[in-house]
Amino acid sequence: MASRSLFDLNPLLAYAFGKAEAEWLLLYPAAPKPFLVATHRSNQEQQALYDQPRDKKDNDGDGQVDEKDEFVSNARAGQSPHNYLPSYAFDIAFRNSKGATDYNLKWFVDFARLVLKTPGITWGGNFKSIIDRPHFELTDWEKLVRK
Ligand SMILES: [Zn+2]
Repeated sequence: MASRSLFDLNPLLAYAFGKAEAEWLLLYPAAPKPFLVATHRSNQEQQALYDQPRDKKDNDGDGQVDEKDEFVSNARAGQSPHNYLPSYAFDIAFRNSKGATDYNLKWFVDFARLVLKTPGITWGGNFKSIIDRPHFELTDWEKLVRK
């Protein structure tokens, strides 16, 4: 399972998440609360995600094998900003007062507005190809890992 630790996250991203979370609690005290779903993800876990639509397994437990909604990532091992330590990306979700996870689009849009006050971060909700609203990454992460 991917790490959910803030300590496995690039310091600028950790700062931006923490600041946005604090602002969120002040601005929207009754709304579901943001939490980290993933920071660092190992190469092995990344490859398993990539392979989901072609691994002949029922990954989402709906009785179907390799159907469309098992596609979750087009990044192979080492190609995702999550595969570095500290991670150059984090994914979030929201939890309501009853403890249920909430993926309502509105929360992601509002939270992204707070995260993006910190310069140098790209939101997956603004991606051109595969929109990924739970995802935030360091804009220039590829330049940092290129050798
Ligand atoms: Zn992500």
